[in-house]
Amino acid sequence: MPAKGQHRKPRLNRLTRVCIAAGTGGAALALPLAAATHASAAEPATAPAVATTAAAKAETYTVVHGDTLSKIATAHHVKGGWHQLYKDNKKVIGSNPNLIRPGERLTLNGHTAVKPAAKPAPKKAVAKTTATTAKKAAASTGTGYTKPVGDAAIGTPYHQAGSNWSSGYHTGVDFLVWSGTPVHSVAAGTVVHAGADGAYGNDVIIKHADGKYTLYGHLTRPLVSVGQTVTEGQEIGISGATGNVTGPHLHFEVRTTPNYGSDIDPVAYLASHGVSI
Ligand SMILES: [Zn+2]
Repeated sequence: MPAKGQHRKPRLNRLTRVCIAAGTGGAALALPLAAATHASAAEPATAPAVATTAAAKAETYTVVHGDTLSKIATAHHVKGGWHQLYKDNKKVIGSNPNLIRPGERLTLNGHTAVKPAAKPAPKKAVAKTTATTAKKAAASTGTGYTKPVGDAAIGTPYHQAGSNWSSGYHTGVDFLVWSGTPVHSVAAGTVVHAGADGAYGNDVIIKHADGKYTLYGHLTRPLVSVGQTVTEGQEIGISGATGNVTGPHLHFEVRTTPNYGSDIDPVAYLASHGVSI
């Protein structure tokens, strides 16, 4: 059985860091002190940078991961608080003030917000698109291996050093996908774990013919059970944000045993089977 790894803070991507670094007090408070400290450390450019006007007292603000209206309102001293912020941006935000999306541009001082030209697709549409891509990705490469999710940006890479992980480094690679994205087994194998797994939240661990194990973490739910055999590209779970995370993503890990601490480079492993990330 997999050990309960103390895999902490698997994802602190650039967007989150930008948010914290910008001094949004609310965001910092919402995270453990360690995370806030880590956030101010220098980081490699692993995720696409997203321009944000948070640092300057600009009229507009671009929503980043982890934001809430009240955080933004507090950080930018919006008169009337988040209620006013919501009122001024209802056109952009829609009917649910709890649902703001990264990339949305909000006005901070009462002018009617202008919808961005390239507003990110709503959650549902993104999931759908990813599903379509994932289906494509799940098609055999001819090597018996495929990607765990469709085209997705990489968040925290393998072996990124940091105090946030008990092993001293990140034991897998993070794919930035919304909750609800189909997750596929990268190759045929047998399920050796499916369900709660400490900091990994709900995960699925699959043993493959070459003796290696692949792990899919932070799932909303597994779609397979222990002992089940799976095929290359089979949908084995739905991505999510369970366990120790700062936002939804898929943590993908490759191990030489079912246990924590036996990880190997997941990107190199896939590459050796003809799958490039
Ligand atoms: Zn991770």
